Amino acid sequence: MNPETQDEARQRLLFNRATAPRPTDPPAPILYQGEGVEPKAGDVQASEVAPGVVPLRLVGRKPKCFFGLLKGFIGTSLMGFPAEPEQVHLLLRSNPAFARVCGFYHPQKDRADYHYQQVPSLRKLEQFDQIMTEAGIWERIKLAAVETNLASGVIEPEKELVGDTTHYHAYSGFETVRYEDEKGHEQKKSQSKLTKACRCADQEHCPHAWELSDEGAGTIVKSGKKMIWGHKASIIGLPEQGIAIDAVAVSDAATHDGQTFFPHVQRVLGDHPELAHSVRRVLYDSACDDAPLKQRFDDELGLELKASFNPRRSKAITDQLPRGMEKITPSGVPICLAGYEMDYQGIRYASETFIYRAPLGDDGLCVCVGCQEKPQCCNRSNSAGRTLTVSFDTLKHIDPNDPPMAKRFKAIMRGRPSVERMIKRLKCDLGDDRLSKRGNASFQAYLDKTMISYHLLIRHLH
Ligand SMILES: [Zn+2]
Repeated sequence: MNPETQDEARQRLLFNRATAPRPTDPPAPILYQGEGVEPKAGDVQASEVAPGVVPLRLVGRKPKCFFGLLKGFIGTSLMGFPAEPEQVHLLLRSNPAFARVCGFYHPQKDRADYHYQQVPSLRKLEQFDQIMTEAGIWERIKLAAVETNLASGVIEPEKELVGDTTHYHAYSGFETVRYEDEKGHEQKKSQSKLTKACRCADQEHCPHAWELSDEGAGTIVKSGKKMIWGHKASIIGLPEQGIAIDAVAVSDAATHDGQTFFPHVQRVLGDHPELAHSVRRVLYDSACDDAPLKQRFDDELGLELKASFNPRRSKAITDQLPRGMEKITPSGVPICLAGYEMDYQGIRYASETFIYRAPLGDDGLCVCVGCQEKPQCCNRSNSAGRTLTVSFDTLKHIDPNDPPMAKRFKAIMRGRPSVERMIKRLKCDLGDDRLSKRGNASFQAYLDKTMISYHLLIRHLH
């Protein structure tokens, strides 16, 4: 008999999550890490298999070709469908040319008729996918595919990496778990429903432990407070070439983006020494605009973290403005009474101020020329137009050592949106953002299969 009630299990699983109300000891890993399996002596030797050549079996049916099965999955993704067994089976059955390319061309006369070159059954494809997933082979092929492209010059190492996260819709439902926080207040959190891996008739009372039916799924809050029940992936790529280098499942989808980037960069640099050698700076959106995190990147990886500016305030500054100004935006841009954004010029350290000047109009002249607001703004009749200073104290939330208004800052951040295009390729062009399996192992496998076809495609377009 299982001494743990279903509700106790619910609490235990909640408090073990990476986003648990209290940190666990040791801390739960932020990124999913598969177990993997080391090859045993006596297993099939790599040198004994090749496309169309299958290992010798003394008893039983001749096995299906590994490469045929592999091509089936990757080909499915290359055609823009999710690389999952049902889809692979459908395409192999309905598209004889595709089946032939994969190495399956022996016709099946009746149900009892078996030949190793016949299109595999759905059950066989499911078994193959499961073995590949559990043994971490999809991941190893992914790493090899990226490594081949780096080593052969198809991908050039760059000085920067860019990252972001993206969500996939989960194939599961959730329940709302109530728990008590440290102050004894009741809180709520969405969590995957409970299940048991066993097949006992009476699961309510059998001795096996309850587990999450879709481990890793969580609530993802998008802009506008929109909530999605899904899995979260962290994507890292090279901004200049616009190529995704890795996609990894986040252990708990409810994890904040600011926490996923560091461990993922660390992993990518460990996997690809060429990049560890070339990368000096990493780019992210405002979720990583955090001084301790920037320090950590510098201390532990020797990298500069550059993040989009997070003003941490939504209201413009309207108090004690320089004359002629209507407001200063949260990101430090003054806007004048005539509605023009002032151009940032630099810093005057002696007086601890930021310097701005009025922009030039389409005619190449300063917009102040002929401006109706002139009497309350630049009362002198110079043609250079308004210049103004704003003290550091007025813009306390802006770091004078790295102001987001500066041209240099903007130039560096220009590379960041390239990650959005990488995500679109992976999510829309080579698959689907609706998952058809549960759990992080399947999610990671899905990302790996997509990345394998993505890197094959890059190699052939090169
Ligand atoms: Zn059981």
